[in-house]
Amino acid sequence: MFDYLLTEEQIKIRDEARDLVKWVPRQMILDMDKDAITFPKEFLREAARRNLLGCRYPKEWGGREMDWVTTCTILEEIGTLGYEFACVFGVGAELVCDAIIRHGTDEQKEKYVKPLLRGDIFAAECLTEPRGGSDFFGATTIAEDKGDYFLVNGQKRFIVGGEGADFFLLYARTDPNAATPQKALSALIVDRGPGVETKYQYGLMGCRGGGTARLVFRDVRVPKENVVGKIHGAYDVFNTMMIPERLGTAVMTIGAARPAVEIATSYTSRRKAFGQVIAQFEGVSFQIAEAVMLLDAARAMGYATARAVDAGIDMHRIRRMVSESKKFITESCQKAVHNAMQVVGGIGYTTVFPIERIFRDVRLASIWTGTSEVMSMIVAHEWYREFLMEKKDRLTRDFEADAEEADAADEKIYE
Ligand SMILES: Cc1cc2nc3c(=O)[nH]c(=O)nc-3n(C[C@H](O)[C@H](O)[C@H](O)COP(=O)(O)OP(=O)(O)OC[C@H]3O[C@@H](n4cnc5c(N)ncnc54)[C@H](O)[C@@H]3O)c2cc1C
Repeated sequence: MFDYLLTEEQIKIRDEARDLVKWVPRQMILDMDKDAITFPKEFLREAARRNLLGCRYPKEWGGREMDWVTTCTILEEIGTLGYEFACVFGVGAELVCDAIIRHGTDEQKEKYVKPLLRGDIFAAECLTEPRGGSDFFGATTIAEDKGDYFLVNGQKRFIVGGEGADFFLLYARTDPNAATPQKALSALIVDRGPGVETKYQYGLMGCRGGGTARLVFRDVRVPKENVVGKIHGAYDVFNTMMIPERLGTAVMTIGAARPAVEIATSYTSRRKAFGQVIAQFEGVSFQIAEAVMLLDAARAMGYATARAVDAGIDMHRIRRMVSESKKFITESCQKAVHNAMQVVGGIGYTTVFPIERIFRDVRLASIWTGTSEVMSMIVAHEWYREFLMEKKDRLTRDFEADAEEADAADEKIYE
């Protein structure tokens, strides 16, 4: 839709992603929704075969040296298959590999990133614990320093790829005496092996087929060379990882919502009531108009944020833009799907159309990878910080003075 903002090369890669979308058999989508497929390795292998995984990484590790805008075009297209396809596409190649590419050693890139982008192995990201996800720096999974290895004990919850992944990027407490929670954790690569158990697979409302599970780690030996970044340095890893984590999951929601709006547009231009095609009722067409407007606004925000990341602007501003995008895009897409279901009427609530599946799937978008409430906390924090710090530079004019009684100092009471 925003082709005029993309380069020829970006359009070419976006079209490669569209070809992959065409390749996916209908039965795979249905089987994932029934959890008959627990983790779609075949799909990821095909994406890898087309060199679509991790396209923004250096070529030497299997990427294509693309930028974030290009990554967004791919993620949006993959989202059209269903949100869960984009989840599994993203978790290993876009999140876990991003952390290793930015903070890991060459040995880690060789051992984990290259084979993952080839589709030979699969990864999952382990932040959330049964005790909580929003304040994940309070993690209680322990990695005890035993000299040349860490001994990991704990549990992680809701892990996409908990069933199916070969290795995990796990955040664990390595410094029990740290002054702040942000200095207590390390990011570790944990191979599936002795002591790693997939304990429970969740019955999900939507987004099925991704092997979302609870994992138990019991006396798991993790060699020190598997620390990503510095020991106790998970905060730095998370700080960069929140870009793919939140911007990525935001833009893929646009793709996930798109088919619902398209199906509803087509349906309402054929379905009749009171002797008329229902799209002729403003009560119907205005709901489609709102849905389309929300998707366009979401896309504008997502791609503007991707541009900002590509431009390498100040990290505080990025954090705000990414968090705004995550909240605004996911909630806008949910509203767009809500409208789509509404105008299709009763049949939209059945499995005759896929809108009900899309509705179930996109509900996750404003919960996982940081809830909307957490996004608001970050936006508020960053905005106040930025505004108060830059107040003098920001003042193009003293707007407060532009009031009739601006000098009524006795009325400007703050305490
Ligand atoms: C299908 C699915 C897949 C997932 N995949 C993964 C994965 O692959 N890896 C992974 O690590 N995690 C994953 N998650 C976990 C997900 O990221 C967490 O569920 C999410 O971050 C919220 O954490 P929580 O469920 O513990 O809720 P809680 O943290 O308990 O929050 C409950 C409610 O309280 C609100 N809340 C909490 N703190 C505040 C506050 N300070 N101010 C205002 N409101 C607040 C939250 O916004 C939320 O509404 C997945 C979850 C699901 C459901």
